[in-house]
Amino acid sequence: MTGLVIVGHGTRSAAGVEQFAALVERVRGRGAVGDVEGGFIELSRPPLTDAVGALVARGHRALVALPLVLTGAGHGKGDIPAAMAREQQRHPGLGYRYGRPLGPHPLLHEALEQRIDAALAGADRAGTWVALIGRGSTDPDANAEVAKVARLLWEGRGYAGVEPGFISLAQPSVPAVLERLRRLGARRIVVAPYFLFAGVLPDRIVAQSAEFAAAHPDLDVRVAEVIGDCDALADLVLERYAEALGGDIRMNCDTCAYRVLMPGFADKVGRPQRPHDHPDDPVGHHHHHGHDHHDHNHGHDHGSVAVVGGGPGPDDLITVRGKALLDAADVVVVDRLAPQGLLAGLRPDVLVVDAAKVPRGPSMAQEAINEALVSHARAGRRVVRLKGGDPYVFGRGHEEVLACAAAGVPVTVVPGVSSALAAPALAGVPVTHRGVAHDLTVVSGHLPPGHPDSLVDWAALARARGTVVLLMAVDTIAKIATVLIEHGRAPETPVLAVQDAGLPEQRSVPARLDEIGAVAAREGVAPPAVFVLGPVVALTTTGPTG
Ligand code: SAH
Repeated sequence: MTGLVIVGHGTRSAAGVEQFAALVERVRGRGAVGDVEGGFIELSRPPLTDAVGALVARGHRALVALPLVLTGAGHGKGDIPAAMAREQQRHPGLGYRYGRPLGPHPLLHEALEQRIDAALAGADRAGTWVALIGRGSTDPDANAEVAKVARLLWEGRGYAGVEPGFISLAQPSVPAVLERLRRLGARRIVVAPYFLFAGVLPDRIVAQSAEFAAAHPDLDVRVAEVIGDCDALADLVLERYAEALGGDIRMNCDTCAYRVLMPGFADKVGRPQRPHDHPDDPVGHHHHHGHDHHDHNHGHDHGSVAVVGGGPGPDDLITVRGKALLDAADVVVVDRLAPQGLLAGLRPDVLVVDAAKVPRGPSMAQEAINEALVSHARAGRRVVRLKGGDPYVFGRGHEEVLACAAAGVPVTVVPGVSSALAAPALAGVPVTHRGVAHDLTVVSGHLPPGHPDSLVDWAALARARGTVVLLMAVDTIAKIATVLIEHGRAPETPVLAVQDAGLPEQRSVPARLDEIGAVAAREGVAPPAVFVLGPVVALTTTGPTG
């Protein structure tokens, strides 16, 4: 069952940390999710990396990461995904689905209503105004969410009115919203912090409310508790977990200042999200102010490239790690020989780039592919370069890894099942066998013997007694066989051509070494095919092997 990591942003408040831990324990106690951990991206213990590390140590390669935030702002949109990207670099192959922010949700409204009722202690709702105080953000969409929650909280509950306010970064401030309610004629006001847990900012809401109350002795001002650890919150966490598992995440991007030009927020459009900057936070390392935070390059580059071996052709001979990265990819750059069936399982929003069709001038193919990998990763995308077999066996995989490394793009390689080994096996030939063959040589037949650029010592190869596997040799097999015999390999050495290994069209064509050229031509052996030769070929099992 997919593990759940609950991600908090961290707080200086010991009470807040305790409430977070209690909620994690409550969710765990429900037993609805097999494995649950909680961690913070900064300030508090345990750190996220411990939580993810614990889940990975227990065998999880796929997680749901749920940001424990009420609204989608910098933490949820930027910091937590950045922290998860670092975890993925730490644990190659780790995949995760990202949950959406908790609110707005009826369970939260009910919890707020209960906190307000507790503060009212029997006083009537009709004579009560509520000031719902959000954290406040430089992200206008997050502030608008608080206004929406205020409206929904008012709807049908009988309060005189509910007005939104903010403790930080946004207007109206706590004194401003209290003053506004006073002028509207309020006599009794409940200040309701729209906060999950205790912390420095909720404490500040209490202090500012008390100050306002002291200056207005004719008003009855009370402050409700934060939402805190409770069953409703655990229910909501589990709901968001299920939603993430189902892939049913709908973030509101229509009013996202990072995507859409909003008055006063022109500096955000198209910018990568930065770690948050709350200038009034009592936190040493967020000391910079105002607009200058865009000049500080704290940017976490989410983009990365994984060069993944897809195996010889069928969908299920890719590694578990390769599949997890593929599932998490935003862009897949695919080769003709990579398992095409895997593409059908990608999310519909994944960009699939056919490497054979990357725009290029003559002989520019590899450079154009490298550029595509680098530019997609630099745009913050998770790129999978999906190749056939193993990326490092005649796959040019290392050229791509070097290009990414040179460009400063994080890159990993995921080995694959090479056709050099898999094609013989799927055709019933063991490439080594005790007492039969103690050596195996994998050779490219791309350049025929005698070609000036050939790096193969064909004479030495002819002297070896074990197994030889030839790739890319359909056009050159006759010439290669002749040269091997010339240099001493026995003409009767058995050879098997294996075409389309692992696919429904798989077929084998056997012949002696001195006849393989003619037989392959006559039988129409066509790429992709490998030729395996040596005494192991005599051991070929004929029944179904795949
Ligand atoms: N990196 C790949 C090899 C790329 S070179 C790997 O590790 O498998 C391309 C050659 O691989 C083809 O010419 C053919 O010789 C071999 N090949 C790839 N897929 C194959 C398949 N399904 N059946 C037989 N040969 C295959």
